[in-house]
Amino acid sequence: DNKKMESIAAMIHDVVVLLQPQAKMKNIEIEYTISKKEQIFCDRSQVKQVLINLVKNAIEAMDDGGKIRLITHSTDTHVEINIVDEGPGIPEEIIHKLGEPFFTTKQSGTGLGIMITKQILERHHAFLEIKANEQMGSTFRILFPVIMN
Ligand code: ADP
Ligand code: MG
Repeated sequence: DNKKMESIAAMIHDVVVLLQPQAKMKNIEIEYTISKKEQIFCDRSQVKQVLINLVKNAIEAMDDGGKIRLITHSTDTHVEINIVDEGPGIPEEIIHKLGEPFFTTKQSGTGLGIMITKQILERHHAFLEIKANEQMGSTFRILFPVIMN
């Protein structure tokens, strides 16, 4: 593989630039707050694919405008990226099915995005947490372990 220390801000920026037109068409604003210095040891194109999958899902979940927020946060042990949307949230009874191959609730979905996301994260010793927000929408949280070098 092709892992290096990569700036989270730069990867998020690239993905937002890529998906902005699609968001704009649905009147969705993508907002991100990140500190420049957060870096993770990763394969840049694979982590961008993860972000693309999750931000696309957020866009697809929102029908009449609203906001998607990308928020990073670091602790002693982990660097996390939160993708927070204002969609309908995820019903309790299907939340555990997300990431099963071909599980989709969309007319023309593939049901592969979250599965691929989880596979990529596994290769980075990282993982995904999914939760329905209390007020509105859902949060997909990616947790990367901090690697000392
Ligand atoms: P697909 O997007 O092709 O349906 P995914 O694996 O990306 O496949 O997502 C699987 C399912 O998870 C979706 O069909 C949808 O039901 C649910 N889902 C994913 N992201 C969100 C989200 N941000 N809000 C609500 N439901 C979501
Ligand atoms: Mg998807």
